[in-house]
Amino acid sequence: MTELSMRKIQDLAGQLKGKKVLLRVDFDVPVVDVQIQEPFRIHCQKEMIDWLIKEEAQVVMVSHISAVDSFADLMPQLHILLGQEVGFIKDISDVAAYLASYATPGLLDNIRQHEGEKNDDAALAKSLAQGFDLYVNNAFAVSHRKHASVHAIGQILPSYAGLLIQEEVRRLQQVIDAPSQGKVVIMGGAKASTKVPVIRHLLPQSEAVLVGGVIANDILKAQGKDVKASLVDEDAPTLLTDVNLNDPKLLIPADFVEDQQKNLDIGPQSIAHFQKVISHASLIVWNGPMGMFEDARFMGGTKAIAEAILVSGVQNVIGGGDTIAAVNQLGLLERFGFVSTGGGAMLAFLAGENLPGLEILK
Ligand code: ADP
Ligand code: MG
Repeated sequence: MTELSMRKIQDLAGQLKGKKVLLRVDFDVPVVDVQIQEPFRIHCQKEMIDWLIKEEAQVVMVSHISAVDSFADLMPQLHILLGQEVGFIKDISDVAAYLASYATPGLLDNIRQHEGEKNDDAALAKSLAQGFDLYVNNAFAVSHRKHASVHAIGQILPSYAGLLIQEEVRRLQQVIDAPSQGKVVIMGGAKASTKVPVIRHLLPQSEAVLVGGVIANDILKAQGKDVKASLVDEDAPTLLTDVNLNDPKLLIPADFVEDQQKNLDIGPQSIAHFQKVISHASLIVWNGPMGMFEDARFMGGTKAIAEAILVSGVQNVIGGGDTIAAVNQLGLLERFGFVSTGGGAMLAFLAGENLPGLEILK
């Protein structure tokens, strides 16, 4: 999959006046006490929305959100974050009336309120498509899901790749296509089921894969080493069976910051080794914190890796919800080369999988 193989919304420039566009965005942001905690994913949609407004299209956005049931109470914050009035559309049955008296872009309430969304239900997609001329997917972070507003909708409306999706695909494909010499992959965090496929796919075509986080414990354990009471992933042994754990390019931490018999961050020797590899890299892709960064005592490895990437000035792509949160907490997020909005989607792409939400845009 390259961005060249997708139908692009810009190809309709000048032809969108009055056209009714269903825009899949990803506003799945963390919320605490009705306050959006991290608006990164919302900011990333602004360019696409502004472009469609400039084209005089009539835009209705659709998104899911996990932290709360409804977008209703978040609308004033969305208005500020997007610098744009956005109408709230409570139900799919209200869309027709909204379009009939269209004034500003609208946002349909949390699509996951409908059971059919996660089942890729054709009937839900059909009712969602009602009244629209075309569909734009700009929600990269959910494109690995076979959901009605991401996949089934593509069977009903003419479908186009949004600006953000194109940029994400371009940057990630660049990582895959880059020569192995100088390409360094950094994997941390948890969830072996999403990380091991990336290691399996990229290890043969990289100069080095640096591993931290829970996934490092998983690999050490699979190598028969004692990880004491460290957190490990139950799925890991099966997932790791066809990864060459003796590949000299696979760099596992030599020491850890420990607490109560648990490896909770990579140690100083490992940091020094990883820093050296990073300083010689020409392209870096990073997903997953090196340790349990939520506790300041175990933020050191993640901080050192983030700083090493920035100091080296190397071309880089980073992603993952917790990786972004950690880097943002360090005040370094803006300094990275490309920050993917996708966690699972980024990993699925890097693992060489076909993403259902991208397949429909071909
Ligand atoms: P991302 O969202 O960036 O893809 P993950 O969700 O895979 O990252 O992993 C982040 C989580 O992994 C964090 O909650 C962090 O505390 C945890 N973590 C990382 N290293 C360890 C460790 N050594 N022990 C326990 N938890 C860890
Ligand atoms: Mg996470």
